[in-house]
Amino acid sequence: MDYVLKCIECGREFENEDIYICDCGGLLEAVINPDTVEIDFKFDGNNLKVWKYRCLLPVKIKPVSLQEGGTALYKVDKIAKELELNNVYVKHEGLNPSGSFKDRGMTVGVTKAIELGKKAIACASTGNTAASMAMYGARGNLKTYVLLPAGKVALGKVAQALMHGAKVIGIKGNFDEALSIVREVSQKENFYLLNSVNPFRLEGQKTIAYEVVDEIGVPDRLILPVGNAGNISAIYKGFRELKEFGLIDKIPKMTGIQATGANPIYKAVIDNREDIEPVVKPETIATAIRIGNPVNARKAIRAIYESGGIAVEVTDDEIIKAQKDLAAKEGIGVEPASAASIAGLRKIADEIDKDEKVVCITTGNLLKDPEAVISVCGEPIEAEADIVSVLEVL
Ligand SMILES: *Cc1c(COP(=O)(O)O)cnc(C)c1O
Ligand SMILES: [Zn+2]
Repeated sequence: MDYVLKCIECGREFENEDIYICDCGGLLEAVINPDTVEIDFKFDGNNLKVWKYRCLLPVKIKPVSLQEGGTALYKVDKIAKELELNNVYVKHEGLNPSGSFKDRGMTVGVTKAIELGKKAIACASTGNTAASMAMYGARGNLKTYVLLPAGKVALGKVAQALMHGAKVIGIKGNFDEALSIVREVSQKENFYLLNSVNPFRLEGQKTIAYEVVDEIGVPDRLILPVGNAGNISAIYKGFRELKEFGLIDKIPKMTGIQATGANPIYKAVIDNREDIEPVVKPETIATAIRIGNPVNARKAIRAIYESGGIAVEVTDDEIIKAQKDLAAKEGIGVEPASAASIAGLRKIADEIDKDEKVVCITTGNLLKDPEAVISVCGEPIEAEADIVSVLEVL
């Protein structure tokens, strides 16, 4: 399969794969030449995993893999009924090896790092990128460096990054500042940068689209939380490619959900703009989408416009309610950012057709953020160690 990295703004093409951005400042995209693709998989719902779709993934060597992908797709009839909808599904990306969809991107990104002869990888992270990168870095024998906004990362995610052997640095600033620092440091130190500005990471994440089609065909609408906006761009690219290759005949309405305290893409879409105005001090309980200046904004906004989708904003209270609904009514445990997709669906339910086939992506696992859970559910009840005391509190 032949492909080139191409700038989405000026169209310039690059032979060199060891770059993240065009000279004009535009984002890059791996553009696959359809005439050179030989599709060797079937959409039969079997054997789901990222590397089932290897013939559409731009790497040449044996992948660094932890059996990512193949996540569960649940029909959520109780939530759907409340909203007077008939076909709502949740694809639970929290069931990936490190507990978030980032693993789909990392298996491809870390493989590319090795292909390019890199010895070290780096990222800025709200947590899950760090956890995933540390895991795949360990698997691939690479040094891993992580910059986090100190005090603003969920405990489970920091624990993962540390245990898998990353060098973890908490900076006294927010995610956007961490990203701008790590971009420069990576340039100076020849680290391979694995934030979602890296086009190869998004290639792995596009397999969410492939898996959904593999399981239930093309949905009418796909809903997901949007932070740095890589995932919505990646999933849209996945659908767009399938259409270009003649494997599907429509693309779902890409529906991006942001938190009210970190909503630059929502604001741009509402005003019909192509560019965002960054939010200087982003704030939300959903730390994974606590991002004010999303790097992939222009890709994401195009994905929304081109697919006939929309952007929605939700409050922290709406996010918490959705998180509780998913956990207590459907048995699906997700972290706050992930619940934004259900909170967003609730907000637009009146405006969508009741038979629309809707897939909500829940991006990360409940266990990632135990502190947020305790803060909304409270501590367990305590009792003396005898039957009477236990019966009393029951
Ligand atoms: C990374 C992440 C997001 C945001 O994804 P983007 O690609 O940055 O938009 C949302 N939820 C969770 C749990 C994440 O880890
Ligand atoms: Zn360019």
